[in-house]
Amino acid sequence: MINLDCSTHAVLSVKAYGHGLYEVALERNGLAFTPGDCVALYNGGGQSRPYSIASGSRDADLRFLIREMDGGEVSPWLAGRTSGDTVRISPPFGWFRPGQEIGDAPFAFMATGTGIAPFLSYVATFDRPPSCCLYGVRHESDAAGFDTLDKRCPTHLAVSREATRHRHGRITGLFSALPLDDRHHYYACGRESMVGEATAWLRAQGIPLERIHREVFFHG
Ligand SMILES: Cc1cc2nc3c(=O)[nH]c(=O)nc-3n(C[C@H](O)[C@H](O)[C@H](O)COP(=O)(O)OP(=O)(O)OC[C@H]3O[C@@H](n4cnc5c(N)ncnc54)[C@H](O)[C@@H]3O)c2cc1C
Repeated sequence: MINLDCSTHAVLSVKAYGHGLYEVALERNGLAFTPGDCVALYNGGGQSRPYSIASGSRDADLRFLIREMDGGEVSPWLAGRTSGDTVRISPPFGWFRPGQEIGDAPFAFMATGTGIAPFLSYVATFDRPPSCCLYGVRHESDAAGFDTLDKRCPTHLAVSREATRHRHGRITGLFSALPLDDRHHYYACGRESMVGEATAWLRAQGIPLERIHREVFFHG
């Protein structure tokens, strides 16, 4: 069903990272949003899925990191767009607010895959850096935005499916790099299993649930 509040945005570029990961850039057309917001992106048949905005709230364009899902209704359609096509999008919505609404408390980021999108939006928008970022990907070439993040804070990458100069394995092997104190807030985004394991690990270190903020993109 087409939402009447939707707006239509021209595709500026589609960049392939390899292994089914794409960055889709759309014309912004003045759309206002807060880092952490999602929009519903519609395919040509009117079906939509939520995607987190990866660009900063002062950037000229609107960017998304899209993982193409085999047999999916929307993500393969998005990955197949080319410059000049158009995409309908809903107004922004969201409740995940990395680094925001916590006063001057320090904070750390944890992401798997496209779960890095809200954190890229944060660092492109705000000057106050996270204390660190843990980032888990399958292949090193999937680590979209790693250099940008690494310039802003210590960024630890775990690569699970190939040996690289980074840690080989899952992001769980990086949890011990998280600063632990009675002020830090922790933001975890991406695969459900990582978000659950990060929560359990932090809880075991005595971190209360109010300081653990979570958003799940993919189940399992
Ligand atoms: C709040 C939120 C933000 C999101 N942000 C992003 C983002 O920035 N980038 C991004 O690539 N994706 C994001 N997603 C996931 C996205 O919304 C879609 O679920 C995904 O792109 C698959 O949609 P599809 O239409 O291609 O596949 P579908 O047609 O929905 O499904 C195809 C196959 O994939 C499986 N599948 C679909 N969705 C999921 C899922 N979420 N977890 C596990 N299996 C699934 C289905 O069971 C089916 O077998 C987000 C999800 C949420 C809830």
